[in-house]
Amino acid sequence: MKIVEMRIVPVAMADPPLRSAFGLHAPYALRTIVQLKTDDGLTGLGETYGGAIPLRDLEAARERVIGQDPWHLTRIEAAIAGDPTAAPNKDRPWEGTLSSPVQSYSPIEVACLDIIGKATGRPVADLLGGRYRSAVPFSAYLFYKHAGIGGTDGLADASIAARERDDYLAREALSPEGIVRQAEDFVRLFGFKSIKLKGGVLEPDREAATILAMREAFGPEMPLRIDPNCVWSVETSIRIGLELAGTLEYYEDPTDGKANMAEVARHVPIPLATNMCTTSWSDIPETVERGAIHILLSDHHLWGGLMPTVKLAQLCRVFGWGVSMHSNSHLGISLMAMAHVAAAIPNLTYACDTHYPWQVEEVIAGGKRRFEEGHIMIDDTPGLGVELDEDALARLHEQYRKAGLAKRDDVAEMQKIQPGWQPVRW
Ligand SMILES: [Mg+2]
Repeated sequence: MKIVEMRIVPVAMADPPLRSAFGLHAPYALRTIVQLKTDDGLTGLGETYGGAIPLRDLEAARERVIGQDPWHLTRIEAAIAGDPTAAPNKDRPWEGTLSSPVQSYSPIEVACLDIIGKATGRPVADLLGGRYRSAVPFSAYLFYKHAGIGGTDGLADASIAARERDDYLAREALSPEGIVRQAEDFVRLFGFKSIKLKGGVLEPDREAATILAMREAFGPEMPLRIDPNCVWSVETSIRIGLELAGTLEYYEDPTDGKANMAEVARHVPIPLATNMCTTSWSDIPETVERGAIHILLSDHHLWGGLMPTVKLAQLCRVFGWGVSMHSNSHLGISLMAMAHVAAAIPNLTYACDTHYPWQVEEVIAGGKRRFEEGHIMIDDTPGLGVELDEDALARLHEQYRKAGLAKRDDVAEMQKIQPGWQPVRW
């Protein structure tokens, strides 16, 4: 079997005005869809970060993909990523720009596994060691946000209907009460059984009050997490951590860097999780040496694919770390890739993050996948179990063209509503 075509389609989907430590989400989130076709008529799908740089990097990889056998993953990985354990270029932002070659390889690996799954009649999870679980748990992912569902025009009928509804997607949530209401919607509509709050937005005490308000609303059985995206100082992280000890399931990236995380770990009796402190294989030795984390939030887009994610989870076992999954704004191809690999990881100790409920648009046939009691189910469907809706893909590609966004830039978006705004360190 040989890969004869590699199609790369940049897309933009409506994204609500969510706040983060980096500023404000733009009206559209960007993704890149990869489709591989083989000489015997099979196709495989992958999805990754969006914008000009991923597009350029994937275009540059094409000639090393065409002609390869999709079963020869190690050879394809070497052709694109060289040594996948090499340190990435730290001069480039780690998220959303394919800052290391393993990130270019990731959607190609996923598409190859989709092809192999279709060729063998087995779901991708079965190629990764088999379904350790068929129901993959996801967590509610809450955001402080402004009113509105995102997008500026050209939204599908379903999205226009969403504009008119009074729910988590449309409502403002810039207070503890607003977040509790958002959480109630997530739990009622999707059945999530744990809750994460994106922090680093309001004053830290206000965010701690938000967590305590959720504890009050949902009781001690509902696991809670907060992720200030590294913008709290060590002092603030320790002070808030001590206040929330006994309330948080884990404390995600309160502060920046391995040394600072290790300092927080020495003072706060809550497991520390990260998707920012330890983001490549080359980060692991220092992370271990310092005792900087307890839980690694993996991400196949970042770590170079689904098979590397299985290996990473095994390494986490060696160091006694818990494992869960980080998320960016994404569509159904990434959702299913995440779910397949999570199904195959025995030591997935926490429900995975996902932005999926924030997106109203899709590129996969049949529209958005549904959560069943907070889970994505993996059945016997070969491959990832998703196919492209070509009309939807064309529409979201046209939206990308019109949106004129080359990269995610939350600071620039925030400055449109607060001129001169810069990220705050608390
Ligand atoms: Mg995070």
